[in-house]
Amino acid sequence: MGCATALALAERGADAVVLERAVPGAEASSAAAGILGAQVELHGKGDDAAFFVRARDAWGPWARELRETTGIDVGWRACGVMRVAFAPEQAEQLAREVAWQREKGLRSELVDGARARQIEPVLAEGVTAAAHFPDDAQVDPQALLRALMAALSRHPRITVRSGATVERLLVERDRCTGVKLDDDVLHADATVLAAGSWSSLIPGVPAGMPVVRPVRGQMVLLDERPPRARTIVFGAGGYVVPRGDGRVLCGSTMEHAGFRKEVTAAGVHAILGSALACVPSLGAAQVMGTWSNFRPHAEGGALVGASALLGLFLATGHHRNGILLSKITADEVAAAILK
Ligand SMILES: Cc1cc2nc3c(=O)[nH]c(=O)nc-3n(C[C@H](O)[C@H](O)[C@H](O)COP(=O)(O)OP(=O)(O)OC[C@H]3O[C@@H](n4cnc5c(N)ncnc54)[C@H](O)[C@@H]3O)c2cc1C
Repeated sequence: MGCATALALAERGADAVVLERAVPGAEASSAAAGILGAQVELHGKGDDAAFFVRARDAWGPWARELRETTGIDVGWRACGVMRVAFAPEQAEQLAREVAWQREKGLRSELVDGARARQIEPVLAEGVTAAAHFPDDAQVDPQALLRALMAALSRHPRITVRSGATVERLLVERDRCTGVKLDDDVLHADATVLAAGSWSSLIPGVPAGMPVVRPVRGQMVLLDERPPRARTIVFGAGGYVVPRGDGRVLCGSTMEHAGFRKEVTAAGVHAILGSALACVPSLGAAQVMGTWSNFRPHAEGGALVGASALLGLFLATGHHRNGILLSKITADEVAAAILK
């Protein structure tokens, strides 16, 4: 959120400094699966539909723009997403989801098991129905962070300070005027709070701001040789994200575990159980790695735009959909600042 917002500001003619206590992308943004699940993530929430779909549709052009400026391909692919059912009650739920989305004019289809396996041949025989969202897409978050870093470092209006920990916001006469770092003080016309799951821990944030809390997600990376899976598949307990080159990300848990960055036996068991139920052939894939990180969750949804404190703007609390919402958030926050 911080990197994308700095880029959006600089493109509009403002000077921006990115402050990061580690290196940009050290936390949730590089840990994500990169699903641009505008429709699969709606779960009946009509209020989010327009924002989510606009966010997804902004991605293709942004990916091209990043490739042109940096030479880095961020792995944007309109691969489609399927949410699958193994039992009649799951299929009924999917039918309801597809029905209201179609009423809203969103492309989606309820398909039977045979049609689902035509779309994604590696799907389990036990899949009886699926909701297909052909316009949902993916990016590779680690490539995205590399591209963003390259774009930031080349932009004359942007400074990136890695290893700079914000100790607190500077608040003078009811206005945020910048930040105090561990070894420096920085004044700014506008300060953007984009500290992910740590956003509420920074002294000086307005008391009325919804608290941002970490929700741990664990991931397992598989290597499927030869690459067969193509479509993102959501089962009841997790998802499978084929990158198209043999890498398959399997996720994820949703845990309230504070800031314990662990990969647990139960987490990996649940993730692989769900992944193999959907795509049994992944049982032969090699396990390449595991990790976990923290989704920034705010009650009531993402915090985007001006805050109650003058001079302070918010770009945080995006929970499961921060990659999807990164570009649209950056544009909205930059527009709010430069209004
Ligand atoms: C396992 C997992 C899977 C996910 N999958 C998806 C997905 O498929 N699609 C999707 O859209 N989203 C996904 N997400 C969610 C997405 O990753 C997040 O919503 C998004 O990355 C949050 O971005 P952010 O910039 O707010 O937070 P972060 O990426 O966590 O960045 C916050 C940064 O602030 C820095 N920081 C914190 N405190 C300070 C301080 N005091 N001073 C200086 N720097 C500080 C941190 O070091 C960190 O780098 C997933 C998340 C997880 C954990």
